[in-house]
Amino acid sequence: MRAQVRLGRVFGIPIGLHYTWLLLAVLITVSLGGYFGYRHEAWSEGLVWGAAVVTGILFFVSLILHEISHALVARAHGIPVGSITLFALGGVAQIEEDASRPGAEFFMAIVGPLTSAVIGFALIGLAMLGGWVPGAEPRTALVSVTLWLGYINIVLAIFNMIPGYPLDGGRVLRSIVWGITGNVDKATRAAARTGQVVAVLLIAYGLVRFFFRADVGGLWLALIGWFLFSAANASYAQARIAKHLRGIHVRDVMSARCVPVAADLSVQTFVEDYLLRGGHHCFVVNDAARNEPVGIVIPTDLRRIDRAEWPTMPIRRAMRPLAGIETVKPDEPLLGVLALMGRQDTSEVPVMDEGHFAGIVTRSDVVNYVHARTELGS
Ligand SMILES: [Zn+2]
Repeated sequence: MRAQVRLGRVFGIPIGLHYTWLLLAVLITVSLGGYFGYRHEAWSEGLVWGAAVVTGILFFVSLILHEISHALVARAHGIPVGSITLFALGGVAQIEEDASRPGAEFFMAIVGPLTSAVIGFALIGLAMLGGWVPGAEPRTALVSVTLWLGYINIVLAIFNMIPGYPLDGGRVLRSIVWGITGNVDKATRAAARTGQVVAVLLIAYGLVRFFFRADVGGLWLALIGWFLFSAANASYAQARIAKHLRGIHVRDVMSARCVPVAADLSVQTFVEDYLLRGGHHCFVVNDAARNEPVGIVIPTDLRRIDRAEWPTMPIRRAMRPLAGIETVKPDEPLLGVLALMGRQDTSEVPVMDEGHFAGIVTRSDVVNYVHARTELGS
């Protein structure tokens, strides 16, 4: 989830909006307008919508605070945090790596719901200081807004503690199973399975509310359920792969025998003489003057080039320059490389050994390796 609108930085962490966030902002503001209008018939139209907008903004501030708490605990454990993005289904902190110990995972996960709960109870306390008595209608707009924010933060805390991965509660569950069994893959599979069950229940509940009670919020719940389901599925698949990849390094699967290609060769000749002939899939572009590799050719990149340009365009203009892309070392764990491919949205990563080009590692290298391991039953 990459932010399209940047809002600024908090504790050095960039905060941004994904365009789908607009959907949630509209949904929240409209339902708040409806809620305030229904609860306070004496309020003017202007007050109703003014309160709805202010409450909506403060709701997003509390979502960001929830995510910041995750990010700060992650950073305290030495785990890099990319950014915090608000999108259609709430907020997400881009925490770049998994925790390496169950204790760290536990605190990273539970701090979010704790933060929301503290904010929630503090706001309800404030409303009481403002003269609100539990069970009674709030008398001023300020108390009404404070109260709604207090409730919603407690709802956020409870919802996030549902034990389905990748919700915070699912991460807590994962850390506990991990701590007890000492097996991180087993823990992820257990948490992802409960995540799938929770997601299906959420979708069913949301659809029932939407179709039988004409509640638009039900559709939103179903959407969250669908998002959770695909995230839980992905986590499950990842855990299965991770089980086979633990302890494996880049050098174990990388293609070291890359075919050298001259930099001024045309794309057309490259395709005809190199790509379509011979079973190679690793091509390195050599700079004749410097006699060293300057880039790699990723066959799928060539699809983006107009065929009419193939005969005249030198391969150097179609390659990915080694200087401009992230590379890995032969002794790096393979799991980190997969994460890198995901982050960079690429399927091939060059391997550099002490400044020298050593080969490339591709997603299919990894898949073939896992496949072979599963076939051998190890
Ligand atoms: Zn959270």
